[in-house]
Amino acid sequence: MKSYREELWFNLPTRRGFVNITEKVEDCIKKSGVQEGLVLINAMHITASVFINDDESGLHQDYEAWLEQLAPHEPISRYQHNRTGEDNGDAHLKRQIMGREVVVAITKGKLDFGPWEQIFYGEFDGKRKKRVLVKIIGE
Ligand code: ZN
Repeated sequence: MKSYREELWFNLPTRRGFVNITEKVEDCIKKSGVQEGLVLINAMHITASVFINDDESGLHQDYEAWLEQLAPHEPISRYQHNRTGEDNGDAHLKRQIMGREVVVAITKGKLDFGPWEQIFYGEFDGKRKKRVLVKIIGE
């Protein structure tokens, strides 16, 4: 069995944002040489997510509005977590609902996706360097 590991780094200039990382994952699969297997992609930080959905700007704005309704960033004082001196109580909650990781089948060396599926990095406490782990196993 082959295995391959790579870390993807991000440093978003904004507090929140979504990045399509599908091509980066495809590059990792090419480098791995795996034709039949699985790829795991997970955020290595507890205020960021990896998820699969459609690549649509309207949809990303809808996510942003929906997540802000569920867990508004302000007032910062509404979160007990922020009593530690942090201001990212909302980001922990947003990450929880958007998820930590995705697993995708690799078939004939490609992501075995439905028609509109794309992989995204979701940032909820940006303006600093963060990592995503890509782990590939197979033959
Ligand atoms: Zn925190």
